[in-house]
Amino acid sequence: MQFRDLQKQYQVLKKEIDKSINEVLTEGNFIMGRQVYLLEEQLASYTDSTYCLTCANGTDALKLALMAWDVKKGDAVFVPDFTFFSSGEVVADLGATPVFIDVDEKSYNLSGISLESSIKKVLSESSLNPKAIISVDLFGLPADYTRITQIARSYGLLLLEDGAQGFGGSINNHGIVKRACSFGDISTTSFFPAKPLGCYGDGGAIFTNNKEWAETIESLKIHGKGSNKYDNVRIGMNSRLDTIQAAILLPKLNAFKNYELAALSEIANYYNSLLKDYVETPVAPENFSSAWAQYTIKLEYPEKRKELIKFLDERGIPSAVYYTKPMHKQNAFQGNYLCFDHCPETTKLCSMVLSLPIHPYMGKADIEEISKNILDFFKK
Ligand SMILES: *Cc1c(COP(=O)(O)O)cnc(C)c1O
Repeated sequence: MQFRDLQKQYQVLKKEIDKSINEVLTEGNFIMGRQVYLLEEQLASYTDSTYCLTCANGTDALKLALMAWDVKKGDAVFVPDFTFFSSGEVVADLGATPVFIDVDEKSYNLSGISLESSIKKVLSESSLNPKAIISVDLFGLPADYTRITQIARSYGLLLLEDGAQGFGGSINNHGIVKRACSFGDISTTSFFPAKPLGCYGDGGAIFTNNKEWAETIESLKIHGKGSNKYDNVRIGMNSRLDTIQAAILLPKLNAFKNYELAALSEIANYYNSLLKDYVETPVAPENFSSAWAQYTIKLEYPEKRKELIKFLDERGIPSAVYYTKPMHKQNAFQGNYLCFDHCPETTKLCSMVLSLPIHPYMGKADIEEISKNILDFFKK
């Protein structure tokens, strides 16, 4: 059994993917070919964004957004303590200071209470300039954007949505459905193979409705180009999505929209129904819909998790811990970070969460086998 079976997906979509790759090989348009622009159009339309710019990976996507906002030394950027390293790495990379914020115990996403109190503390206790919030849609579930947007507005902060795991998730606000990657002033995603929408290598995208930022990012991602590639008006990066990756993503986006997302949701519901009496199962708040980048349960205490991992492993069932360490404990940030309350919720989650196999091509039998083993574990 595989944690996320990408081969199975390839077997189902093989004809379309092979054909699409072959078109690139035949056309020879390896850099910024027509497939890249076609994908950008489709991604913009799916997320209802005015602009979509693809780039080399999800980390670059975050960095390009912060560069467009001129985030620099002396700036404070608020980042959840419970996330993948990139979300904080890009802040430190630009010389700014990441301020790590605790997450909500149920959604695992940025806690509004912790966010607001940390902003106040940066204002009163530091000489840093509060600049932006990076909000992560962890495990596929959009963060609480009603609350976070309101906090961003009231303190004059920019909002960057890290939708690397959230792509495909949505919030239904009084009948108006908004998709992940449309909640930030700028939003980003990743096409790393194991993400909800993955390519066959590295890839990423940036979404915004702001023309000026879109134009700046378009320049930044191609060596700070001006009117052409050999007229350079700013220091930028080389961060483009390969045409072959765009060609792979086009048929995969169709499958994702047409049935994969619905399949994931069914799988998660089935897991929930089988496991809910034994472990804490993931909950989406009312009107929220997850992209199920991970299906993550919570055990009662750390030793229990260790035992369950071993028990499952001995029975050929893979599981994974996302994430083992709070961001504020990562060595790389020591010397340049703030964290006002030691993030107790994150610290707890790091020792108790466990992600189980999930992917759109998983059969009922696999879900039942995994769940049965978990039940056996609790009954032993
Ligand atoms: C994967 C991930 C990224 C980085 O994406 P890459 O394409 O691997 O650079 C950033 N943020 C989060 C939350 C992620 O899960």
